Parts: sequence; C-alpha cells; structure tokens
Amino acid sequence: MGSYEENYLKKRPQSLCKMCGKCCRVVTNTKYTYQEIRRLAREGNDFAKDFIKIFEPYPSIEAAREVDAGIVDNIIEHLKMDNKYDEDKITFYKCKYLLDNNMCSIYEERPTLCIHCPSSGWVVVPPGCGFEGWLFLQREEDKQKVRRAKEEYLELQLLKKKTKDPAILAKIASVEKKILHTIDIFKPYGSQDW
Ligand code: SF4
Ligand code: SF4
Repeated sequence: MGSYEENYLKKRPQSLCKMCGKCCRVVTNTKYTYQEIRRLAREGNDFAKDFIKIFEPYPSIEAAREVDAGIVDNIIEHLKMDNKYDEDKITFYKCKYLLDNNMCSIYEERPTLCIHCPSSGWVVVPPGCGFEGWLFLQREEDKQKVRRAKEEYLELQLLKKKTKDPAILAKIASVEKKILHTIDIFKPYGSQDW
C-alpha cells in the first residue's frame, strides 16, 4: 500500500510550482468555518493551530475578490457544483508570511499543511496553478483504482456463489471489506458513479 508520503508527496513533481503565491494569498477551508477552526485550535488540534498561526481572514468575500477574483470565483463555483456553498459559512484567508515577491518568509519552518499543499488530486487549486495537469492525472489514477476495485468486488461475488468453505468465505469477506473501503475513500468525489 505505502504511506501517504510514498504514494503522493514523493512523486509530486515540485518543479511544477510556478511560485506565483496564489495558494498563499487567497485560501479557504471547505471543511471547517473560521469559528470551528478557532475552537479546534483552542482544543489543541495541530492542523487548526497551524492554520490560525499563518492565516488571517479577509473581512469579506468582496475583499478577497479584490485581491484575486479568479481564485474566489473558482472556489465558489466548485462549492456550488457540490451543493456545498453557504455564503454565511465561507471565509477567505491570506497568509501573514507571504512576501511581496511571492516568496515564503518562513519557508524552512513552514507548517505541514503548506508542505502538503496541494495535498491530493481532489483539492481545488487556483486557476493557472502549475500542478493543474498533474492533479488531473492523479484524479484519473484514483478513478482507475476504484474501477479496478469494483471489478474485483464483482469477481468476489461470483466466487462466493461457488463455495461454502467457511475459511474461504472469511477470506472473501476480509477482501470485500478492503475493497469497499477503497471505494468509500473516494465517495466525496463521486466514486459511486465511476
Ligand atoms: S498556486 Fe500552484 S503554482 Fe502557484 S505557488 Fe501555489 S502551488 Fe505553486
Ligand atoms: S507559510 Fe509560507 S508556504 Fe505557507 S501559506 Fe504562508 S507563505 Fe505560503
């Protein structure tokens, strides 16, 4: 299987980054509201603590649009497509450590969330990000992985009909569980339809 680092981070070609600073200048978090991130940070959650340490909220969506309307509109469009857009809950942020020349002033000590960014093929990157094409290929690989898993699942169903051996049935159940887990991981991105 391999770790996240082996499967994703090590093979991500860092040279694709154009160092445009867009992903540091206008950012959002689609999982948590600003209030939730602050609460999590108070509770000691490492991701939330890092997030609060580097990002400060724009006073409004319009203020973020004035900095880069393309990024803001792209994110909102994706959220609307997924029926997840709620104007009252979304906050855009900018990083305090981004310099005018788009360099990171704390590069060597930047938090894990920055090192991981873009953290999977499914994250929404700013329009024109150098990783766009590579992330597209990662999504296609994920889809192929799920399709293969579905084929294996069907083969197991046939196998199940041919045996009554409890040991074999137990093995099949265990493999089935792993296959369903693979499909489940990608459910938020529509794996049921691939
Ligand atoms: S938006 Fe993409 S290309 Fe630009 S700095 Fe961020 S990761 Fe690099
Ligand atoms: S800490 Fe550096 S890499 Fe992370 S968001 Fe800020 S400027 Fe970008």
